[in-house]
This record gives sequence, structure tokens and C-alpha cells, in this order.
Amino acid sequence: MFKNAVQLFEIFGFKLKVDPSWLLIATLIVWSLSTAYFPEVLPERSARLYTTLGIVAMLGMFASLILHELAHSLVARSYGLKVGGITLFIFGGVAELEEEPHDPKSEFQIAIAGPLMSLFLAGLFYGVANLLGELNLAGAVFGYLALINLVLAVFNLIPAFPLDGGRVLRAALWGWTRDLIKATRISSRLGAAFGLFLMLTGALAVFSGQGVGGFWQILIGFFILNASNGSYQSLLIKTALRGKTARSLMTERVHVIDPDAPIARLVDEVMLRHGVSLVPVVSDDILLGYADTAGVRSVDRQDWAARPVSDIMVRSDAGNTVAPLTPLDEVFKCLTTNARRKLMVAQGTRLVGVISLSDVAHHLALEQEIGVPPDKYA
Ligand SMILES: [Zn+2]
Repeated sequence: MFKNAVQLFEIFGFKLKVDPSWLLIATLIVWSLSTAYFPEVLPERSARLYTTLGIVAMLGMFASLILHELAHSLVARSYGLKVGGITLFIFGGVAELEEEPHDPKSEFQIAIAGPLMSLFLAGLFYGVANLLGELNLAGAVFGYLALINLVLAVFNLIPAFPLDGGRVLRAALWGWTRDLIKATRISSRLGAAFGLFLMLTGALAVFSGQGVGGFWQILIGFFILNASNGSYQSLLIKTALRGKTARSLMTERVHVIDPDAPIARLVDEVMLRHGVSLVPVVSDDILLGYADTAGVRSVDRQDWAARPVSDIMVRSDAGNTVAPLTPLDEVFKCLTTNARRKLMVAQGTRLVGVISLSDVAHHLALEQEIGVPPDKYA
């Protein structure tokens, strides 16, 4: 999700990364704090002081976000779930769980930990700000951090999946109905509705002349809308593919070609005749690799009769060949992330089939039409 994120350091064994998009929000925060918030709470000080306070407060917010995600991550780890790392990006932070919680109780505790941490920080900073007094510089910064942590806790508790509150709701519905799919459907629909609501009210704000805040709301709404739809879809896909392997969907009758055959024969007798774009190259029952249309295109047409298939062959490796017992969700991931539309299926060096993205997509569409049984994901 965050390919350009830069790793800063490790905290409790979690990698802390910052996506470049975070710089935009950090700049916006410093700007609005130093030109509006601090001049209001601490009148008649220098512009330089306001900027310094803005930067310090922004760093405090940065730390608060990390603590919020750290709370999620530590609870997730205590349940034995792998956490890829914590990434800060334009809309805040995410703890990247590599697997979903296995039961409602762990999902609830992982989800609630973040907002509880933010609430705790809000209380703590509020107390410190009060002790220091309103006109104290550090007091003003702590006052702002108390406010921002409160906002963070309350916003995240809105029951709109994938916000924390939406996860809490999903955990409750999951525990109550014992049906993860239904629970996810309901909470992600609420998420989508909330996303739309934010976008609409944001648009109204823009039209009534409130500018930046409205645009920001539209962006956040769009992000939530997208994420809520996406997480429901990916759960459906995972569920539909669960327990199946490459063997269950692969095509077993595969047209192959000998590495010594001329390219012309590959084109005329295999590709065009059988309508296939990827042809496994097999010699003496041993899978060597494959030849595809891109390889064919790389050779001048007049040389097709003279040059052998082995000249354009791509060797079989872990990126283009899977075992028959490879779980289907792994096959799907491989097919969708590498822009590879087909994989060869081999038992050792023996070709047993090919599997394509359209095989998997067709299966998914079929499952969706039939309807996925509710208790498949336990
Ligand atoms: Zn959270």
C-alpha cells in the first residue's frame, strides 16, 4: 500500500515508516498552527515563536499517532498476529496487520486499544496543560495535544469500517451473529455511508466558501468510502478462495512446445490454432519454461522459421510456476501483483497444468452468484 514509505526506526520491534504524503499534512498542520491557533491562544508573540510552537506541536501529534498505532500493534502481537509495521501517511497512521484477527474478542481488543490510548493521552496532556497554565508556552502546546488526541479518539470511534469504531462494531456483530461476512458487510456499508456523508458535507462547505476544510473532508470521505468497499471485497475473495489450491482451478490439458521447435511452429500450430498466448516449453517431460506472445514479438517475423523456441523462452522459476497444492489465495496474489496473467503449475519438474487470472476471476464470479455460505470463515 505504501511503496514509497521511508523507514525511520524500530520501536518495540515494529518498523516505523513515513509515507511522503505525510509531509503534506505535517506542513499544513505547522502552517495552520503558527498562523491561526497559537496567535489566538497566545496573543502578541513573534511569528518565529509561533512557527517553533507549530513545529513542536506537530512533532507531538506525530508521537501521539505513533502511540495510538503502537497500542493496536502491541495488542495484536499479544494475540500472536504478525504486524508488518506502523506507517504514517496523509490521513494519519496505520498499523499494518499481516493477518486478520481470528475471533471477535481479539478484533475488539485490538481495535479499541488505539482510541483508548488517545483518550488516555488527551487526559494526561490536559492535566499537564492545566498545571502549567494557559499562558505558558509548553502549556499551550500540551493544551493543543490534549485537544488533538481527544479528536483522534472520538473520530476513530465512529462506527464506520475501517475506522477503529467500525472494527469494534464488526467485532460486536461478529460475536453476536457468528457470521464474519455479514458483520463485515454491515459495518463496511456504514463505513461507505459515513464516507459519502463526509464528502457531501465537505462539498457543501466548499460551496459555502469554507475552502480548505471542506476539500480535506472530501478527501477523507473518499478514502474511507474506498477502504470500506475494498475491505469487504477482499474478505469475500479470501473466503471464496479459502481451502482451495491451484490444482482445483487449473487447466490440465495444456498445449506445450519443444524448445528446439521453430518459432513459426509455436505461432501457427499452438498459439493461433488453440488460442493461447502462453505456451509451456517441455522437453522429455521436463518443464523448462514458457514462451509467450511478447517473446514472439521480440523476433523479426522473417526469422520465425529459422530460430528455435528456446531463443525466446523464459525459464521456469518461483515467480511464474506454482505447485499444485499452493493455496489459491496465494496464486491470486501472485497473479494480481506481478501483472502476470498466467502461471504454470508443476509438480517438481513435471508440468501438470496452467492457471490464469481469468480462471480465478470466473470462479469468484460464480461463487458470488451462488452465494457464499455464511459460516465458511470461522
Ligand atoms: Zn486506530
